[in-house]
Amino acid sequence: MSAVNLLGLDLDSLAAYCEQLGEKRFRATQLFRWIHQKGASDFAQMSDLAKSLRDKLAGRAHISALPVITEQVSADGTIKWLFDVGQGNAVEAVYIPEDDRATLCISSQAGCAVGCRFCSTGHQGFSRNLETWEIVAQLWWAEHSLRKRLGATQRIISNIVMMGMGEPLQNYGALVPALRIFLDDHGYGLSRRRVTVSTSGVVPMIDRLREDVPVALAVSLHAPNDALRDQLVPLNRKYPIAELLASCVHYLDKAPRDFITFEYCMLDGVNDTLEHAQELVALLRGKVPCKLNLIPFNPFPASGLVRSSRERVSAFADVLLRAGLVTTVRKTRGDDIDAACGQLAGEVQDRTRVHQRLLRPVVVVQAGSS
Ligand code: SF4
Repeated sequence: MSAVNLLGLDLDSLAAYCEQLGEKRFRATQLFRWIHQKGASDFAQMSDLAKSLRDKLAGRAHISALPVITEQVSADGTIKWLFDVGQGNAVEAVYIPEDDRATLCISSQAGCAVGCRFCSTGHQGFSRNLETWEIVAQLWWAEHSLRKRLGATQRIISNIVMMGMGEPLQNYGALVPALRIFLDDHGYGLSRRRVTVSTSGVVPMIDRLREDVPVALAVSLHAPNDALRDQLVPLNRKYPIAELLASCVHYLDKAPRDFITFEYCMLDGVNDTLEHAQELVALLRGKVPCKLNLIPFNPFPASGLVRSSRERVSAFADVLLRAGLVTTVRKTRGDDIDAACGQLAGEVQDRTRVHQRLLRPVVVVQAGSS
């Protein structure tokens, strides 16, 4: 039997695992805290665990990070890590520091099957779902390597957004335990308000998330009607806007925030006219408590799409604001390292280039010791 990577076990699963080894639940709690709060990767470091348990674990389990292919630091402090997930696949996580928070954007899949027209990940196609440990390892690495680098003893990352590569609700089985680890007081202790799942609209899974782990929800809307959304977000053909909005309203009675965030990528001449803005007002006002986030499109050659002008975005936002819809325009961060939204792992499909990068020396700080 292959050794278990303990990064993938939420506290209940770790307790069940420890029980199989003849250990009580409080031992699992201690172990969990060593892993997630202290970033330990070596059982020998875990000084308050009985030596007999450490010996048992050493033969059967491990705590292993994802190999880092590259780390890029932007002039604005944004950091992007490219992680190797095997067989020529790589995923990215992006750290975005701001004055009042520090957000980590995490990937849930290598590639994505949804195929949104404006998304470079979607253009790459789908490789595979990440396992729970691979999702958690992105936070584990970011948090503990940054703590070491900054000499910090307190938690650094305050917010998580599941907005990296992949559609998280199409990897639901791996996502839910990862969210539980993020929220657990013995793990990262993040509040449900500070963990956001972003979806293109997998309606049955939004309903399940409401029951299982109702964290904050962001929905990639991108169009005010089905005819246009069918083209931009192909999943709309399966779950059209009316169904999607109904499930959003239903979600809100258990959500930690009293609004849904709708993401709207601004595409020149496609979805950015004043008529589109008015249609959006008619669709949402008084129907779904929400905030709108207008995202400047990050062009990539295969898309054939162009970013809306600043003036157009501002006129569009004006229509929404005057109608009373809370609207923000997303700042682009990490442009110089291609870390902006929709640019993640833009080169990953080109496996030769990934392979070449694997051969390059990478300087990174070490996580995993306390
Ligand atoms: S926007 Fe999200 S759901 Fe759509 S293709 Fe990109 S990663 Fe997939």
